[in-house]
This record gives sequence, structure tokens and C-alpha cells, in this order.
Amino acid sequence: MAVTVAPLSHQGHRARYILVLLRDLTESERINQMRSDFVANASHELRTPLASLRGFIETLQLSAKDDAGARERFLKVMAEQAARMTRLIDQLLSLSRAEMNVHVAPSNLIDLNHVIDNVRDATEPLAQEHGVKLQLKRFAAPALVRGDLDELVQVLQNLVTNALKYGADKGVVRVEGNYRSAQGRGNGRYSIAVIDEGKGIPSDHLPRLTERFYRVDVAYSRERGGTGLGLAIVKHIVNRHRGELTISSKPGEGSTFTVVFDAVEKPQEKPAPSQAAE
Ligand code: ADP
Repeated sequence: MAVTVAPLSHQGHRARYILVLLRDLTESERINQMRSDFVANASHELRTPLASLRGFIETLQLSAKDDAGARERFLKVMAEQAARMTRLIDQLLSLSRAEMNVHVAPSNLIDLNHVIDNVRDATEPLAQEHGVKLQLKRFAAPALVRGDLDELVQVLQNLVTNALKYGADKGVVRVEGNYRSAQGRGNGRYSIAVIDEGKGIPSDHLPRLTERFYRVDVAYSRERGGTGLGLAIVKHIVNRHRGELTISSKPGEGSTFTVVFDAVEKPQEKPAPSQAAE
């Protein structure tokens, strides 16, 4: 708690009114702490691949200079480390953009089926690489929300990429679009669930998953190209869209990440039969 006392007006030598200001510093201290933790984490994450790059450069300049095989191997690892740094910087920029704009709700008219189609095209190669079948259930009719197409694609892409990275053990990842009626109030909501049958997440980790740089298993995430920022970005973009993110998971059975957004209008009374786009 900070206390400031200042005289406001004087009568002779005596103060007539005194201003007493009491400020609760706990919140601002917490924000300062979070800020400096973030900078420390980001620097550490960037420093790791950088240190590895410097090590390889030194080795190439010295012992591996005349060994063509070693040179090729080292250059491959160096390219991977450079790609890791690029990924991290891209994600830091996405996070900062989403945080900066959090008070302005995006207002374009977006069909969530369009978002699902975009993500299918972007993640299909990764699914094939992992030998996973991506099963997509689009909305039965156009699912209109107010939003930003690129950001909504990024939300779904991060969730599907995670499902492929951590939850693809059984070879199937499902993405399901559904409409939830509002029971008389408003236009209802659209949900998109990303469901995997992977190893799941122990319940004590669930509340912290959307924190920046939080990972259940840091080594495994790194090995899979993770940065620990994907879900923090998802949370910020969903908040900006005045939506909701829910996570449920059972160790050994799999995880479901669901995002929900307000519908701009009720879907047509008799929707066409649901289309499966696989
Ligand atoms: P990362 O870049 O490490 O994937 P995220 O913020 O996207 O970072 O996710 C944070 C952590 O949550 C991951 O490191 C992983 O431990 C866990 N996680 C995310 N999605 C899943 C999933 N579908 N199944 C199991 N664990 C997951």
C-alpha cells in the first residue's frame, strides 16, 4: 500500500485541507512481476537456439572445417535452430498484437466454416506427416460471427497443431462445429471443438495452460517445435472476440479444447444436413 499526503491549501502556516492518497500496489506489483518474468522467459527461449548456433559456427570454423559430412549435419541443425527462433519471434509478435488490441472487438462478418476450411488446408500436410486422420465436421449452415479472419484461423490452427503434436497417438483428431441455441435470449452461440485421443493433461496443469511459456513437459514441447505461447495467443484472441475457451482432458484418454463465439444471427430454421469435409 502506498500513502501520499499533500497539503491542498494554506491558511498562514497551517494547511486547511490535506489530500491523502491510498494506492493498492499489489496489482501493479503483480503486473510488473509478470512483465519482468515474461522478458526473462523470452530472452531465455531466444538465447537457447542462439547459443547452439554460436557453438556450431565455432565448430565449423575449427574442427569441422574440412569434414564435408559433419558440415552438412551441422548446417541442418543450424537451419532448424534458426527456424525455431523465427517461430518464436513470430509468436511473440502475434501475442503482442492480440494483447494490444484486446479492448477493440473485431467487427468483420466471418463465416466460421471459412475458418475451418482455411485450417484444414493449412494443417493437412502436418497431419499427413504425423500419420493422423483429420476429421472435420463443418457447421450445417453459414455460421456468422463478428471477428477477424486471420486471428480466428490462428486460434483454430494453434489448437489443431497442438492436437497433432500432443494428442495424435490414436491417429485421429476431430474438429467439430456446433450451434448452441440461446433458449429464447439472443442468437445463440457457435462452438468449435478440437478433440484428440492422446495422452491427455493432468488436471493440476489445466488452469495454467494459457499462461505464456507454460508447458506440461518443456523438453517434449521443444522437441515438437513448441514455444509455449500457442495457447496464450489463443486465449488473448478469444478474449478480444468476447468468446470463451474451455479445456477438458483426461489423462490416458485425450483432450478437448473448445472455443465459443456469439452468433450474429440465428442459423436458418431447417439447416441442410451437416457436411463432413475430410
Ligand atoms: P507449445 O508451443 O509448447 O505447444 P502451447 O501454449 O500451445 O505451447 O501449449 C502449452 C502446453 O499445453 C504444451 O506444451 C503441452 O504441454 C500442453 N498441451 C497443449 N495442447 C495439448 C493437447 N492437445 N494434448 C496434450 N497436451 C497439450
